[in-house]
Amino acid sequence: MILRTAYTCIFLLYSYHCLAQSTNELDAALPEPRAYIPDSQYLDFVYHDHDELTRFLRATSARYPNLTALYSIGKSIQGRDLWVMVVSSSPYEHMIGKPDVKYVGNIHGNEPVGRELLLHLIQYFVTSYNTDQYVKWLLDNTRIHIMPSMNPDGFAVSKEGACDGGQGRYNARGFDLNRNFPDYFKQNNKRGQPETDAVKDWISKIQFVLSGSLHGGALVASYPYDNTPNSRICRSSALCAMFQTYSAAPSLTPDDDIFKHLSLVYAKNHAKMSRGVACKSATPAFENGITNGAAWYPLTGGMQDYNYVWYGCMEVTLEISCCKYPPAYELKKYWEDNQLSMIKFLAEAHRGVQGFVLDPTGTPIERASLKIKGRDVGFQTTKHGEFWRILLPGYYKLEVFAEGYAPREVEFIVVEQHPTLLNVSLTPSKRNEGTTVPFYRPLPLPQQHYRPSSPTTYSDSGIFSTISSGLNSLYSNIFG
Ligand SMILES: [Zn+2]
Repeated sequence: MILRTAYTCIFLLYSYHCLAQSTNELDAALPEPRAYIPDSQYLDFVYHDHDELTRFLRATSARYPNLTALYSIGKSIQGRDLWVMVVSSSPYEHMIGKPDVKYVGNIHGNEPVGRELLLHLIQYFVTSYNTDQYVKWLLDNTRIHIMPSMNPDGFAVSKEGACDGGQGRYNARGFDLNRNFPDYFKQNNKRGQPETDAVKDWISKIQFVLSGSLHGGALVASYPYDNTPNSRICRSSALCAMFQTYSAAPSLTPDDDIFKHLSLVYAKNHAKMSRGVACKSATPAFENGITNGAAWYPLTGGMQDYNYVWYGCMEVTLEISCCKYPPAYELKKYWEDNQLSMIKFLAEAHRGVQGFVLDPTGTPIERASLKIKGRDVGFQTTKHGEFWRILLPGYYKLEVFAEGYAPREVEFIVVEQHPTLLNVSLTPSKRNEGTTVPFYRPLPLPQQHYRPSSPTTYSDSGIFSTISSGLNSLYSNIFG
């Protein structure tokens, strides 16, 4: 049955793409997404506190039950729900063969522009679905998970108008959540916080293909790696910090071409990011509005490196306001500057290669390990045997390994116009053949390196138990 669904899906997808439904052809075939005129009856350009945010999300899910699903991935230290809203024409069920993507806002509590823009993005999507072909296509082909605030406790003690400083940056225990993830290069000894643990659990259950993390305090799209094998740590000396700024070297991933491309998609569709103008005379100007994270300044425990290395999710850090917490009357302008970027960035999930790994009977193979040859950061299939990888046009080889099957190498081509659909069939291995996966989270690892643990299986103490009472029955398929 699964097989039949998968094949139907493949067939449909294929004909779909032949009919010019991919992002790039879409760009040519459909008008640009339209400007959105918010209806202040539902959502104004003001900052919303946690209760107001919750009310908006609940009301939206009630008003648009066919396009939205609201769930909480856990609670902050002070008990605030970490809300995620799915916006899609299939909000409650993963669409087999189609990508899940996400935005996370407000990981630093005092950087709330992203938090508000994400609420408007939700409102824009639900009110444009029936009238805007671009939005309709995106929501019909993508499940978009939007988390307006990863740090609601920090936001609660932040001050509007505070362009700099750290008040509200941290969670209620004083931890910087964007330094709280396991790190690929260095051992991160920081104690895991509830907000970070909830996100780790979340992304272990849903295979996200693409992600944006929204910040403030600069105007740049910053891509992995954030950390580097040789970053020095400057604790107090201003001279040391200055030295570090000038000596920071890029720390590039094997997917650097993709990350640069994704960052440029955001920067170039933004009203001014790609001009690369410095926020202040003392801060750096970024060529084309993009930078490698470590080249700007290295950090340990960041979220984007974790997404990429552990789960193959391409995450970019989007710094969208020079002032961390600008006055509310500027929010409308920030929306206008970012609207197109936020939409076009998500559509990039439909670029590259996608398909299924199947056994000879056509049954999907879960957790097959895949790697694009020459790009030593791997990824895995979902429980439906699906995989996705964002790639630029070119010639590639896909290496596929699964326990009990003979490994395979498959050549394929990626073109600009539509994603390449690639199904890989594996045959059971003879004894001693192909039983050992030669990579898992590959690359020769630096010493003291944290190896990612195997994805955990779902247990009752996970996400489902933290979902708000009364909404439980609605969510059984969300993580499918
Ligand atoms: Zn930040």
